[in-house]
Amino acid sequence: MPAGKLPAVDELSAFAGVRDWIFDLDDTLYPPESGVFTAVMNRIRAYAARVTGTAGEDAVALQRSYAARYGTTLRGLMEEHGVDPVEFLADVHAVDRSALAPDAALAEALSRLPGRKFILTSGTHAHVGKTLDCLAIADRFDGVFDIADADYLPKPAAATYAAFLDRFAIEPAAAAMFEDAPRNLVVPRALGMRTVLVTGRQAPQPASLDVDFVIDDLPGFLVRIADAHSS
Ligand SMILES: [Mg+2]
Repeated sequence: MPAGKLPAVDELSAFAGVRDWIFDLDDTLYPPESGVFTAVMNRIRAYAARVTGTAGEDAVALQRSYAARYGTTLRGLMEEHGVDPVEFLADVHAVDRSALAPDAALAEALSRLPGRKFILTSGTHAHVGKTLDCLAIADRFDGVFDIADADYLPKPAAATYAAFLDRFAIEPAAAAMFEDAPRNLVVPRALGMRTVLVTGRQAPQPASLDVDFVIDDLPGFLVRIADAHSS
């Protein structure tokens, strides 16, 4: 669909058969403007620079090439430099989350949404726990699948979606996925999920994408889906 277009109510019937709701965490359940994931990314770049002995623009270019080639910087550092994922993940997620406040609108919207809710993330259970606590939505989720659960094989690897769906007995045809990274919605859409790209409010709108919906107000959108479900 064209980006920036508010879906009509009848289009929300696309969610009528959805029983399971899957969310990315970073820059999806909280806004990129909070700077939390930018802080994680800065620590990832610093870690990669230390391990690879690069600096400045060279370090950024190397980190980007690993992320593009392996899905995450971590995977590249594991494959090319034997980095210990547990140590890496603890380091890069040691960030200040004080910009995140309880999100009452999101908490309410998640409560009204009928069915199970899950988080599928390339972060860790510890990072999910701390972040959801800041947002005061930790009790709204039925399960979390993190990068260790995925054997350190990040989205968009098809095997990771398969392992996640299997773990929680999720039927993709009866599921919807919310993500800020377009490439992580390609496999879910091919599997038959409804796909929703969540963009930052200050982000440039992509021209056109191979996703079902593009939104910038997650709580508002979830409430509209819940209303459509109950009407
Ligand atoms: Mg994300």
